[in-house]
Amino acid sequence: MTMNNIKTKPELLAPAGNFTKMKTAFMYGADAVYMGGHFFSLRSQAGNFSSDEMREAVKLANSLGKKIYITMNIISRDSDLDRIAEYARELYEIGVHGVIVADLGTFMLVRETVPKLPVHVSTQANNLNWRTIKFWLDNGAVRVNLARELSLEEIKGINDNLINNCESVKNGNNGEPYLEAFVHGAMCMSFSGRCMLSDYMAGRSSNRGDCAQPCRWNYYVSEERRPGEYIQVEDNERGTFIFNSKDLCMAEYLPELMETGVGSLKIEGRMKSEFYTAVTVRAYRIAIDECFKDPEGYRNNKELKDEIMRELCSVSHRDYSTGFYLGDKGEQIYTTSSYLRDTDFIGVVEETSENEMFLRVKGAFNKGETLEVVVPGVREIVTVNAEYIINEKGEALERAANPMALVKIPSDKRIVPGSVVRRRI
Ligand code: SF4
Repeated sequence: MTMNNIKTKPELLAPAGNFTKMKTAFMYGADAVYMGGHFFSLRSQAGNFSSDEMREAVKLANSLGKKIYITMNIISRDSDLDRIAEYARELYEIGVHGVIVADLGTFMLVRETVPKLPVHVSTQANNLNWRTIKFWLDNGAVRVNLARELSLEEIKGINDNLINNCESVKNGNNGEPYLEAFVHGAMCMSFSGRCMLSDYMAGRSSNRGDCAQPCRWNYYVSEERRPGEYIQVEDNERGTFIFNSKDLCMAEYLPELMETGVGSLKIEGRMKSEFYTAVTVRAYRIAIDECFKDPEGYRNNKELKDEIMRELCSVSHRDYSTGFYLGDKGEQIYTTSSYLRDTDFIGVVEETSENEMFLRVKGAFNKGETLEVVVPGVREIVTVNAEYIINEKGEALERAANPMALVKIPSDKRIVPGSVVRRRI
Protein backbone atom coordinates (compact mmCIF):
# COMPACT_ATOMS: atom_id res chain seq x y z
CA MET A 1 0.00 0.00 0.00
CA THR A 2 1.26 3.52 -0.75
CA MET A 3 0.12 7.01 0.00
CA ASN A 4 -1.24 7.34 -3.56
CA ASN A 5 -4.00 4.91 -2.70
CA ILE A 6 -5.93 7.58 -0.79
CA LYS A 7 -7.76 9.29 -3.63
CA THR A 8 -10.64 10.94 -1.81
CA LYS A 9 -10.99 12.20 1.70
CA PRO A 10 -13.48 9.91 3.46
CA GLU A 11 -16.65 11.24 5.00
CA LEU A 12 -16.58 11.48 8.81
CA LEU A 13 -19.88 9.97 9.95
CA ALA A 14 -20.88 10.59 13.56
CA PRO A 15 -23.64 9.36 15.86
CA ALA A 16 -26.42 11.77 16.81
CA GLY A 17 -28.52 10.46 19.70
CA ASN A 18 -30.50 13.71 19.89
CA PHE A 19 -30.70 17.19 18.36
CA THR A 20 -28.03 18.66 20.66
CA LYS A 21 -25.59 15.86 19.89
CA MET A 22 -26.24 16.38 16.18
CA LYS A 23 -25.38 20.07 16.44
CA THR A 24 -22.30 19.15 18.48
CA ALA A 25 -21.18 16.61 15.88
CA PHE A 26 -21.52 19.16 13.06
CA MET A 27 -19.80 21.88 15.06
CA TYR A 28 -16.81 19.66 15.81
CA GLY A 29 -16.37 18.57 12.20
CA ALA A 30 -18.62 15.65 11.24
CA ASP A 31 -19.57 15.58 7.55
CA ALA A 32 -22.69 13.56 8.24
CA VAL A 33 -24.61 12.06 11.15
CA TYR A 34 -26.80 9.03 11.58
CA MET A 35 -29.78 9.09 13.87
CA GLY A 36 -32.88 7.12 14.78
CA GLY A 37 -36.31 8.28 13.77
CA HIS A 38 -39.40 7.47 15.77
CA PHE A 39 -39.81 4.03 14.16
CA PHE A 40 -37.60 1.13 13.26
CA SER A 41 -34.31 2.21 14.65
CA LEU A 42 -31.76 0.11 16.43
CA ARG A 43 -30.95 1.82 19.76
CA SER A 44 -34.55 2.30 20.84
CA GLN A 45 -33.32 4.13 23.97
CA ALA A 46 -31.18 6.64 22.09
CA GLY A 47 -33.55 9.63 22.27
CA ASN A 48 -34.82 9.15 18.73
CA PHE A 49 -35.96 12.09 16.61
CA SER A 50 -39.59 13.01 15.95
CA SER A 51 -40.66 13.94 12.42
CA ASP A 52 -40.58 17.65 13.27
CA GLU A 53 -37.09 17.34 14.76
CA MET A 54 -35.96 15.49 11.65
CA ARG A 55 -37.30 18.33 9.49
CA GLU A 56 -35.34 20.82 11.60
CA ALA A 57 -32.27 18.58 11.45
CA VAL A 58 -32.42 18.31 7.66
CA LYS A 59 -32.80 22.08 7.36
CA LEU A 60 -29.74 22.65 9.53
CA ALA A 61 -27.69 19.99 7.72
CA ASN A 62 -28.58 21.44 4.31
CA SER A 63 -27.59 24.92 5.42
CA LEU A 64 -24.19 23.56 6.49
CA GLY A 65 -23.66 21.28 3.46
CA LYS A 66 -23.83 18.21 5.73
CA LYS A 67 -25.93 15.04 5.60
CA ILE A 68 -28.36 13.10 7.73
CA TYR A 69 -28.99 9.38 7.51
CA ILE A 70 -31.83 7.71 9.36
CA THR A 71 -31.49 4.24 10.81
CA MET A 72 -34.31 1.78 10.12
CA ASN A 73 -32.18 -1.29 10.59
CA ILE A 74 -34.43 -3.65 12.48
CA ILE A 75 -34.66 -7.20 11.21
CA SER A 76 -38.27 -6.80 10.13
CA ARG A 77 -41.24 -9.13 10.28
CA ASP A 78 -44.34 -9.21 8.04
CA SER A 79 -46.20 -7.17 10.63
CA ASP A 80 -43.65 -4.33 10.22
CA LEU A 81 -43.91 -4.00 6.45
CA ASP A 82 -46.84 -1.59 6.09
CA ARG A 83 -45.30 0.81 8.58
CA ILE A 84 -41.94 0.56 6.84
CA ALA A 85 -43.47 1.68 3.54
CA GLU A 86 -45.30 4.54 5.23
CA TYR A 87 -42.21 5.59 7.15
CA ALA A 88 -40.01 5.50 4.03
CA ARG A 89 -42.47 7.82 2.25
CA GLU A 90 -42.39 10.20 5.21
CA LEU A 91 -38.57 10.23 5.34
CA TYR A 92 -38.36 10.94 1.62
CA GLU A 93 -40.80 13.80 1.99
CA ILE A 94 -38.75 15.21 4.91
CA GLY A 95 -35.70 15.15 2.64
CA VAL A 96 -33.27 12.99 4.63
CA HIS A 97 -30.11 12.14 2.73
CA GLY A 98 -30.34 8.40 3.22
CA VAL A 99 -31.83 5.56 5.22
CA ILE A 100 -29.93 2.65 6.73
CA VAL A 101 -31.58 -0.76 6.38
CA ALA A 102 -30.46 -4.22 7.44
CA ASP A 103 -32.63 -6.81 5.75
CA LEU A 104 -33.47 -7.62 2.18
CA GLY A 105 -37.24 -7.35 2.61
CA THR A 106 -36.97 -3.84 4.05
CA PHE A 107 -34.46 -2.93 1.36
CA MET A 108 -36.70 -4.08 -1.52
CA LEU A 109 -39.77 -2.47 0.01
CA VAL A 110 -38.05 0.90 0.44
CA ARG A 111 -36.64 0.72 -3.09
CA GLU A 112 -40.10 -0.04 -4.53
CA THR A 113 -41.94 2.54 -2.42
CA VAL A 114 -39.57 5.50 -2.81
CA PRO A 115 -36.99 4.66 -5.49
CA LYS A 116 -35.33 8.05 -5.12
CA LEU A 117 -34.61 7.67 -1.39
CA PRO A 118 -30.90 6.74 -1.05
CA VAL A 119 -30.51 3.45 0.81
CA HIS A 120 -27.45 2.41 2.83
CA VAL A 121 -27.04 -1.20 3.93
CA SER A 122 -26.28 -1.68 7.60
CA THR A 123 -23.45 -3.68 9.14
CA GLN A 124 -26.19 -5.96 10.52
CA ALA A 125 -26.52 -7.37 6.99
CA ASN A 126 -23.13 -9.14 7.49
CA ASN A 127 -21.45 -7.69 4.42
CA LEU A 128 -18.33 -9.81 4.24
CA ASN A 129 -17.58 -10.37 0.53
CA TRP A 130 -17.56 -8.36 -2.67
CA ARG A 131 -20.35 -10.35 -4.31
CA THR A 132 -22.73 -9.51 -1.45
CA ILE A 133 -21.83 -5.85 -1.76
CA LYS A 134 -22.13 -5.94 -5.55
CA PHE A 135 -25.60 -7.45 -5.11
CA TRP A 136 -26.70 -4.52 -2.93
CA LEU A 137 -25.16 -1.90 -5.24
CA ASP A 138 -26.54 -3.58 -8.40
CA ASN A 139 -29.99 -3.47 -6.84
CA GLY A 140 -29.92 0.21 -6.04
CA ALA A 141 -28.13 0.61 -2.70
CA VAL A 142 -25.95 3.70 -2.56
CA ARG A 143 -23.66 2.47 0.18
CA VAL A 144 -22.79 -0.65 2.14
CA ASN A 145 -21.38 -0.72 5.66
CA LEU A 146 -18.77 -3.45 5.90
CA ALA A 147 -18.95 -6.17 8.56
CA ARG A 148 -16.67 -5.40 11.48
CA GLU A 149 -15.16 -8.88 11.18
CA LEU A 150 -13.18 -7.95 8.02
CA SER A 151 -9.43 -7.29 7.94
CA LEU A 152 -7.85 -4.37 6.08
CA GLU A 153 -6.47 -6.81 3.47
CA GLU A 154 -9.93 -8.25 2.88
CA ILE A 155 -11.47 -4.77 2.51
CA LYS A 156 -8.79 -3.85 0.00
CA GLY A 157 -9.62 -7.04 -1.95
CA ILE A 158 -13.36 -6.27 -1.82
CA ASN A 159 -12.77 -2.77 -3.16
CA ASP A 160 -10.51 -4.03 -5.98
CA ASN A 161 -13.18 -6.52 -7.03
CA LEU A 162 -15.91 -3.88 -6.95
CA ILE A 163 -13.80 -1.49 -9.03
CA ASN A 164 -13.37 -4.22 -11.64
CA ASN A 165 -16.79 -5.86 -11.53
CA CYS A 166 -19.49 -3.53 -10.28
CA GLU A 167 -21.12 -1.15 -12.77
CA SER A 168 -22.18 1.52 -10.28
CA VAL A 169 -18.67 1.65 -8.82
CA LYS A 170 -17.14 1.81 -12.31
CA ASN A 171 -19.52 4.69 -13.08
CA GLY A 172 -18.52 6.61 -9.97
CA ASN A 173 -21.61 5.79 -7.83
CA ASN A 174 -22.82 9.39 -8.43
CA GLY A 175 -19.88 10.65 -6.41
CA GLU A 176 -21.19 8.95 -3.24
CA PRO A 177 -19.01 6.73 -1.05
CA TYR A 178 -20.04 3.12 -1.63
CA LEU A 179 -18.08 1.52 1.21
CA GLU A 180 -18.43 2.55 4.83
CA ALA A 181 -16.52 1.11 7.80
CA PHE A 182 -16.49 1.63 11.54
CA VAL A 183 -13.43 3.51 12.74
CA HIS A 184 -14.24 3.88 16.45
CA GLY A 185 -16.57 2.75 19.22
CA ALA A 186 -18.05 -0.22 21.02
CA MET A 187 -17.88 -3.68 19.46
CA CYS A 188 -20.26 -6.61 19.82
CA MET A 189 -19.00 -10.09 20.63
CA SER A 190 -21.74 -11.39 18.33
CA PHE A 191 -21.43 -11.57 14.55
CA SER A 192 -21.95 -8.06 13.13
CA GLY A 193 -24.33 -7.25 15.97
CA ARG A 194 -26.81 -10.04 15.16
CA CYS A 195 -27.38 -11.33 18.64
CA MET A 196 -30.02 -13.12 20.71
CA LEU A 197 -28.27 -12.73 24.07
CA SER A 198 -30.28 -9.72 25.18
CA ASP A 199 -33.56 -11.25 24.00
CA TYR A 200 -32.76 -14.42 25.94
CA MET A 201 -31.40 -12.84 29.12
CA ALA A 202 -33.55 -9.73 29.39
CA GLY A 203 -36.44 -10.13 26.94
CA ARG A 204 -35.11 -7.17 24.99
CA SER A 205 -34.19 -7.73 21.36
CA SER A 206 -31.00 -6.17 20.02
CA ASN A 207 -32.32 -6.90 16.53
CA ARG A 208 -35.15 -4.47 17.24
CA GLY A 209 -33.02 -1.77 18.82
CA ASP A 210 -33.43 -2.67 22.46
CA CYS A 211 -30.21 -4.32 23.61
CA ALA A 212 -29.70 -4.51 27.40
CA GLN A 213 -25.98 -5.24 26.82
CA PRO A 214 -25.84 -8.52 28.78
CA CYS A 215 -22.48 -9.19 27.13
CA ARG A 216 -21.08 -6.61 29.57
CA TRP A 217 -22.31 -8.53 32.65
CA ASN A 218 -20.03 -10.79 34.69
CA TYR A 219 -20.31 -14.55 34.35
CA TYR A 220 -19.49 -17.71 36.35
CA VAL A 221 -19.63 -21.35 35.28
CA SER A 222 -22.13 -23.64 37.00
CA GLU A 223 -22.03 -27.46 36.83
CA GLU A 224 -25.35 -29.21 36.29
CA ARG A 225 -25.21 -31.47 39.40
CA ARG A 226 -24.02 -28.73 41.76
CA PRO A 227 -26.86 -26.20 41.69
CA GLY A 228 -26.03 -22.96 43.42
CA GLU A 229 -22.27 -23.47 43.12
CA TYR A 230 -20.74 -20.85 40.92
CA ILE A 231 -17.30 -21.65 39.65
CA GLN A 232 -15.13 -18.68 38.96
CA VAL A 233 -13.73 -18.92 35.46
CA GLU A 234 -10.74 -16.68 36.08
CA ASP A 235 -9.62 -13.12 36.50
CA ASN A 236 -11.06 -11.65 39.71
CA GLU A 237 -13.34 -12.20 42.67
CA ARG A 238 -16.32 -10.90 40.68
CA GLY A 239 -16.00 -13.57 38.00
CA THR A 240 -15.17 -12.99 34.37
CA PHE A 241 -16.57 -10.64 31.81
CA ILE A 242 -16.09 -13.29 29.19
CA PHE A 243 -18.22 -11.67 26.46
CA ASN A 244 -17.15 -8.06 27.06
CA SER A 245 -15.53 -6.77 23.84
CA LYS A 246 -12.92 -4.05 23.83
CA ASP A 247 -13.77 -0.82 22.02
CA LEU A 248 -12.56 -0.23 18.49
CA CYS A 249 -10.07 2.58 17.83
CA MET A 250 -8.35 2.87 14.45
CA ALA A 251 -6.80 6.33 14.93
CA GLU A 252 -3.27 4.91 14.97
CA TYR A 253 -3.88 2.94 11.75
CA LEU A 254 -5.87 5.56 9.88
CA PRO A 255 -3.58 5.62 6.80
CA GLU A 256 -3.96 1.85 6.44
CA LEU A 257 -7.76 2.08 6.79
CA MET A 258 -8.04 4.99 4.35
CA GLU A 259 -5.80 3.21 1.84
CA THR A 260 -8.35 0.39 1.51
CA GLY A 261 -10.58 2.84 -0.40
CA VAL A 262 -13.33 3.02 2.23
CA GLY A 263 -15.27 6.24 1.55
CA SER A 264 -16.96 6.82 4.89
CA LEU A 265 -15.59 6.35 8.40
CA LYS A 266 -18.24 5.81 11.04
CA ILE A 267 -18.05 6.44 14.76
CA GLU A 268 -20.30 4.25 16.92
CA GLY A 269 -22.14 5.66 19.95
CA ARG A 270 -25.61 7.21 19.67
CA MET A 271 -26.15 6.53 23.39
CA LYS A 272 -22.93 8.31 24.39
CA SER A 273 -22.80 11.84 25.81
CA GLU A 274 -22.52 15.16 24.04
CA PHE A 275 -18.99 15.34 25.47
CA TYR A 276 -18.07 12.01 23.87
CA THR A 277 -19.48 13.20 20.53
CA ALA A 278 -17.54 16.47 20.66
CA VAL A 279 -14.17 15.02 21.61
CA THR A 280 -14.30 11.92 19.41
CA VAL A 281 -15.52 13.77 16.32
CA ARG A 282 -12.90 16.50 16.80
CA ALA A 283 -10.10 13.95 17.22
CA TYR A 284 -11.06 12.11 14.02
CA ARG A 285 -11.58 15.39 12.14
CA ILE A 286 -7.96 16.32 12.89
CA ALA A 287 -6.75 12.78 12.19
CA ILE A 288 -8.55 12.41 8.83
CA ASP A 289 -7.49 15.87 7.61
CA GLU A 290 -3.84 15.30 8.56
CA CYS A 291 -3.79 11.78 7.19
CA PHE A 292 -5.34 12.83 3.87
CA LYS A 293 -2.81 15.65 3.52
CA ASP A 294 0.15 13.38 4.16
CA PRO A 295 -0.49 9.72 5.02
CA GLU A 296 3.21 8.91 5.33
CA GLY A 297 3.75 11.94 7.57
CA TYR A 298 0.80 10.83 9.72
CA ARG A 299 2.17 7.30 10.00
CA ASN A 300 5.52 8.58 11.25
CA ASN A 301 4.29 11.46 13.39
CA LYS A 302 4.28 10.03 16.91
CA GLU A 303 3.52 13.40 18.46
CA LEU A 304 0.37 13.83 16.34
CA LYS A 305 -0.83 10.30 17.01
CA ASP A 306 -0.20 10.78 20.74
CA GLU A 307 -2.25 14.00 20.62
CA ILE A 308 -5.15 12.17 18.95
CA MET A 309 -4.95 9.21 21.35
CA ARG A 310 -4.77 11.54 24.37
CA GLU A 311 -8.06 13.05 23.21
CA LEU A 312 -9.68 9.67 22.56
CA CYS A 313 -8.60 8.48 26.01
CA SER A 314 -10.07 11.58 27.64
CA VAL A 315 -13.63 10.34 27.12
CA SER A 316 -15.30 7.29 28.62
CA HIS A 317 -14.25 4.08 26.84
CA ARG A 318 -13.29 0.46 27.36
CA ASP A 319 -9.75 -0.68 26.55
CA TYR A 320 -9.10 0.12 22.92
CA SER A 321 -8.24 -2.45 20.24
CA THR A 322 -8.02 -2.56 16.46
CA GLY A 323 -10.82 -5.12 16.29
CA PHE A 324 -10.46 -7.47 13.33
CA TYR A 325 -8.73 -4.97 11.03
CA LEU A 326 -5.17 -6.20 11.54
CA GLY A 327 -6.15 -9.83 11.16
CA ASP A 328 -6.84 -10.51 14.85
CA LYS A 329 -9.99 -12.24 15.99
CA GLY A 330 -11.38 -9.49 18.23
CA GLU A 331 -10.52 -9.02 21.89
CA GLN A 332 -12.49 -9.24 25.12
CA ILE A 333 -11.83 -7.63 28.51
CA TYR A 334 -12.16 -10.40 31.10
CA THR A 335 -11.55 -8.47 34.28
CA THR A 336 -14.05 -5.63 34.34
CA SER A 337 -16.93 -4.02 32.54
CA SER A 338 -16.04 -0.54 33.84
CA TYR A 339 -15.21 2.35 31.58
CA LEU A 340 -11.91 4.23 31.55
CA ARG A 341 -11.48 7.97 31.05
CA ASP A 342 -8.83 10.61 31.74
CA THR A 343 -11.18 13.57 32.18
CA ASP A 344 -14.52 14.46 33.79
CA PHE A 345 -17.20 16.25 31.79
CA ILE A 346 -17.85 19.58 33.53
CA GLY A 347 -20.25 21.40 31.24
CA VAL A 348 -21.14 23.11 27.98
CA VAL A 349 -20.54 26.80 27.25
CA GLU A 350 -23.85 28.54 26.52
CA GLU A 351 -22.74 32.12 26.11
CA THR A 352 -19.55 34.10 26.14
CA SER A 353 -18.77 37.74 26.76
CA GLU A 354 -15.46 39.61 26.56
CA ASN A 355 -13.70 37.51 29.22
CA GLU A 356 -16.40 35.48 30.90
CA MET A 357 -18.51 32.50 29.95
CA PHE A 358 -21.83 31.04 31.04
CA LEU A 359 -21.48 27.34 31.61
CA ARG A 360 -24.32 24.79 31.85
CA VAL A 361 -23.00 22.52 34.59
CA LYS A 362 -22.89 18.77 33.88
CA GLY A 363 -20.34 17.77 36.52
CA ALA A 364 -19.36 19.42 39.82
CA PHE A 365 -16.21 21.54 40.11
CA ASN A 366 -14.62 23.83 42.68
CA LYS A 367 -13.55 27.44 42.62
CA GLY A 368 -9.86 27.63 41.71
CA GLU A 369 -9.79 24.46 39.57
CA THR A 370 -8.09 24.43 36.18
CA LEU A 371 -10.53 23.44 33.45
CA GLU A 372 -9.87 22.40 29.86
CA VAL A 373 -12.09 23.76 27.11
CA VAL A 374 -12.38 21.88 23.83
CA VAL A 375 -13.20 24.61 21.34
CA PRO A 376 -14.61 23.73 17.90
CA GLY A 377 -12.11 24.59 15.18
CA VAL A 378 -9.29 25.38 17.64
CA ARG A 379 -6.50 22.82 17.58
CA GLU A 380 -5.12 23.69 21.00
CA ILE A 381 -6.96 22.71 24.18
CA VAL A 382 -7.71 26.01 25.95
CA THR A 383 -7.28 26.07 29.73
CA VAL A 384 -9.05 28.44 32.11
CA ASN A 385 -8.87 28.82 35.85
CA ALA A 386 -12.22 28.99 37.65
CA GLU A 387 -11.02 31.87 39.82
CA TYR A 388 -14.64 32.59 40.63
CA ILE A 389 -17.99 30.90 40.12
CA ILE A 390 -21.14 33.06 40.08
CA ASN A 391 -24.63 31.55 40.02
CA GLU A 392 -27.74 32.95 38.28
CA LYS A 393 -28.66 34.95 41.38
CA GLY A 394 -25.28 36.68 41.24
CA GLU A 395 -23.97 34.81 44.30
CA ALA A 396 -20.32 33.75 44.49
CA LEU A 397 -19.94 29.96 44.93
CA GLU A 398 -17.11 27.83 46.29
CA ARG A 399 -18.38 24.87 44.26
CA ALA A 400 -20.68 24.41 41.25
CA ALA A 401 -22.47 21.25 42.28
CA ASN A 402 -25.98 21.47 40.83
CA PRO A 403 -26.28 19.67 37.52
CA MET A 404 -27.86 21.83 34.79
CA ALA A 405 -27.29 25.07 36.77
CA LEU A 406 -25.97 28.01 34.75
CA VAL A 407 -22.84 29.57 36.23
CA LYS A 408 -20.48 32.33 35.17
CA ILE A 409 -16.72 31.75 35.25
CA PRO A 410 -13.69 33.45 33.61
CA SER A 411 -13.15 32.71 29.91
CA ASP A 412 -10.67 33.07 27.07
CA LYS A 413 -11.55 34.95 23.89
CA ARG A 414 -11.14 31.83 21.72
CA ILE A 415 -13.97 30.05 23.54
CA VAL A 416 -17.32 29.98 21.70
CA PRO A 417 -20.81 28.80 22.69
CA GLY A 418 -21.13 25.04 22.29
CA SER A 419 -17.58 24.35 23.53
CA VAL A 420 -17.36 21.44 25.98
CA VAL A 421 -15.49 21.83 29.25
CA ARG A 422 -13.67 19.10 31.14
CA ARG A 423 -11.23 18.56 34.02
CA ARG A 424 -8.24 16.19 34.01
CA ILE A 425 -8.62 13.40 36.54
S1 SF4 B 1 -25.73 -8.18 23.95
FE1 SF4 B 1 -23.71 -7.37 23.53
S2 SF4 B 1 -23.06 -8.54 21.71
FE2 SF4 B 1 -25.28 -8.76 21.85
S3 SF4 B 1 -26.07 -7.09 20.55
FE3 SF4 B 1 -26.01 -6.34 22.68
S4 SF4 B 1 -24.01 -5.25 22.78
FE4 SF4 B 1 -23.93 -6.62 21.00
